[in-house]
Amino acid sequence: MHEGCIGCGTCAALCPKFWELKDDGKAHLKGGKFDEEKKEYELELDELECNQEAADSCPVQVIRIE
Ligand code: SF4
Repeated sequence: MHEGCIGCGTCAALCPKFWELKDDGKAHLKGGKFDEEKKEYELELDELECNQEAADSCPVQVIRIE
């Protein structure tokens, strides 16, 4: 995710281990790889942990789990 994030902070509140809000007012995926073409962070996960909850709670649904 990245484009479209409105910086509401929900993901960082629910899932601080993976998400943090930075100075640009957008959420960043900790340890994620940024794909310039897709304008998205990507992260391979063994466990979803709180990411599913963060994705479900994102008001603009820019967190996608595949
Ligand atoms: S929940 Fe969605 S809109 Fe809110 S900060 Fe996280 S990625 Fe951005």
